[in-house]
Amino acid sequence: MSILNGLEQLGLGKLENVNVYESEEEKKAEAEKKEEKKEFAEESVLLDKSMKCPVCDQDFKTKTVRSGRSKMTSQDTDLRPKYQPLDVLKYDAVVCPFCGYAALNRFFKFVMPAQQKMIQDNISANFTGIDTTAAFYTYDEAITRHQLALANTIVKKAKASEKAYTCLKLAWLCRGKAESLDQSAADYASQKEELQKEENELLANAYDGFVNAYSNEDFPMCGMDELTVTYLLAELARRTGKLEEASRYVSKVLTSRQASERIKERARDVKDLINEAKA
Ligand SMILES: [Zn+2]
Repeated sequence: MSILNGLEQLGLGKLENVNVYESEEEKKAEAEKKEEKKEFAEESVLLDKSMKCPVCDQDFKTKTVRSGRSKMTSQDTDLRPKYQPLDVLKYDAVVCPFCGYAALNRFFKFVMPAQQKMIQDNISANFTGIDTTAAFYTYDEAITRHQLALANTIVKKAKASEKAYTCLKLAWLCRGKAESLDQSAADYASQKEELQKEENELLANAYDGFVNAYSNEDFPMCGMDELTVTYLLAELARRTGKLEEASRYVSKVLTSRQASERIKERARDVKDLINEAKA
């Protein structure tokens, strides 16, 4: 008989048979597990890259992943790349620690004089600085940096595609954070739910922005050709529950003569997911 008998009525039946004291072997296994986790130091694959801020003209350093030190292992259906041994996406936002100007790496250099003024008046004037001492970025730090980049896109009246792409990257960081949560933590379920809500809101915003950009901007867009953006719109619509729109974009890809077999394959997968959701 277990001394914890009775916990089942509290929904804690699983705990009835645990040992009160960890055995030496269990302790050792636990320690080894911790050691394994520690083995990879994220900072060991990072590099400080020199940048010049196009808004305040100051030089600063930003963290970036050394080339050849990460590998893409898979991709989610909305094109989010997954890397090992670290989530490279955390390092995409560049933040000037002096004036608060921030943008995704691919957009950072491009600031028009009118935008410079808008950033100085609406960001720099209130910016109190950002911690630059961390050896690597946690998900929370990465999310804050990307949020600052998103705020900058609004202030500088960026193109819809840049706003959409920044929302998409933030959504992917929320997903990455959710995947990295400690599943044994007491607040795991509530944290995961909260992150999922944030992710969905960001995906919906990304969808709206890309719809706008799709009819008003030129391709390639954020490094994606027209068919890739069409495919992405289909999947973003599906993920945010707009199944009619999702179907429409999916057929555009499937009936396109220019579409490669590879992207058609993916579109067929999304079509299956849409049909599942409709059923
Ligand atoms: Zn600056």
